[in-house]
Amino acid sequence: MTDLPLLDHWVDGAPWAGSSERTGDVFDPARGVVQKHVRFASVDDVADAVASAVRGAALWREASISKRTQVLFAFREIVNARKDELAALLTSEHGKVTADAHGEIARGLEVIEFACGVGPLSKGAYSENVSTGIDVYTLRQPLGVVGIISPFNFPAMVPMWFFPLAIAAGNAVVLKPSEKDPSAAIWMAERLKEAGLPDGVFSVVHGDKTAVDALLEHPDVRAISFVGSTPIARYVYETATRLGKRVQALGGAKNHMLVLPDADLDLTADAAVNAGFGSAGERCMAVSVVLAVDSVADALIEKIRERMARLSVGDGTRGTDMGPLVTGAHRDKVASYVDVAAGDGADVVVDGRGIEVDGDPNGFWLGPTLLDRVPTSSAAYREEIFGPVLSVVRVEGYEEGLALINSGAFGNGTAIFTNDGGAARRFQHEVQVGMIGVNVPIPVPVAYHSFGGWKASLFGDAKAYGTHGFDFFTQEKAVTSRWLDPSHAGVNLGFPRHD
Ligand code: NAD
Repeated sequence: MTDLPLLDHWVDGAPWAGSSERTGDVFDPARGVVQKHVRFASVDDVADAVASAVRGAALWREASISKRTQVLFAFREIVNARKDELAALLTSEHGKVTADAHGEIARGLEVIEFACGVGPLSKGAYSENVSTGIDVYTLRQPLGVVGIISPFNFPAMVPMWFFPLAIAAGNAVVLKPSEKDPSAAIWMAERLKEAGLPDGVFSVVHGDKTAVDALLEHPDVRAISFVGSTPIARYVYETATRLGKRVQALGGAKNHMLVLPDADLDLTADAAVNAGFGSAGERCMAVSVVLAVDSVADALIEKIRERMARLSVGDGTRGTDMGPLVTGAHRDKVASYVDVAAGDGADVVVDGRGIEVDGDPNGFWLGPTLLDRVPTSSAAYREEIFGPVLSVVRVEGYEEGLALINSGAFGNGTAIFTNDGGAARRFQHEVQVGMIGVNVPIPVPVAYHSFGGWKASLFGDAKAYGTHGFDFFTQEKAVTSRWLDPSHAGVNLGFPRHD
């Protein structure tokens, strides 16, 4: 261990060291150095955090809807007023540029705002006189303690997809953020406390597989919201459902953008570059494959290339377009796909390896990269790359493009670019993907809809946020009630009927 800062967990409303001696490195990706260490929780540490959350949940489920709304409203105001601090934390540990960090926070704020509407969300149904003098009504109640396990690419927004609604619904949350950029979680915990959230209602445990498994296996953790790569999402889903828990596990992606010959190629090229290289391609809704109908492919590639030549890469605080990748290991893995694609016969139109940057040369850099004629048999086409590598695959027409999208393992997002309304209508009907853009490249639904893909991009049937989110964090009770009066007297062993 060095004299670098050491980030604690957050339990019982305060920083907490736990008993484990294990730690991990947190890098400064724009400089390529370790900037702090983070504690890695043991099984016992997680058990202590869950015990605190059990106490928090017992208290918080009794808080009125109005009290819960007030706390979330105050939290929203504090985050909004201090978002520059949070954005700086995101840039320093993840590497994303300042403007993009603000975009992430804005989308998180939307979910907090939605969660402030917990009053109308929690209204049940009421049927009077289902039988004479008998009424039936439904209630939605919190689950208790819920676990959230989040990925590195949105250290603030992805936790905010879940915890505002979980808390609004009256649960206590234990968050296990990505160990690569864990500070945003602690920053949010501090702000929730300032907003008046009682201790124990929101806890953070840092760590790796040990902490995740301890959350999955703890009997008092009733539900798990996971976001990350597909193999881990599948593992989390299988493990936690086997233990009888409610699980939503969002996985990886390989998002295609289908470009028909009648599309506006300038707008399409803008969209491809924005969605391919924003956040250095480290977005689950990034476009990673452009399916270009052959007759317009050359013209489109030229327009994409022109735009890529104008992109600046460097330290995210300096107003550049694109920052570094999150770690050196991830950068090397992403770059290795360029070799794979070239080896499989793809043309490397723009090679981002060895790019000159506005920043420290030791940072985890990889410039925007464009590949053409990527064979669909190549691992560079089939696997999620999760970096600034955009592949073009040429297709003869709509049918071939659709068939390729539908044959893929993932089903997170996709987009069609066309001026033909009939083609777009047909696409939204036929494509086997959960979130569709029509001339919109990153179709992340707003907070009052719900976010989630199909196939290997989501295990479980509850999407994130929106009404799916509230339903996921609550369980329904149906009450059948009769207030006794003498007219109901008499024994009857028959099954209740509503004549
Ligand atoms: P990851 O799967 O490596 O990690 C996600 C979480 O799982 C982290 O908290 C990590 O600590 C934990 N984890 C890692 N290995 C584990 C193991 N062996 N056992 C148990 N837990 C483990 O993902 P990442 O690299 O942090 O994030 C990028 C991935 O997340 C990409 O695949 C991306 O597509 C996906 N993602 C998906 C969505 C979505 O909405 N579908 C959103 C954001 C990111």
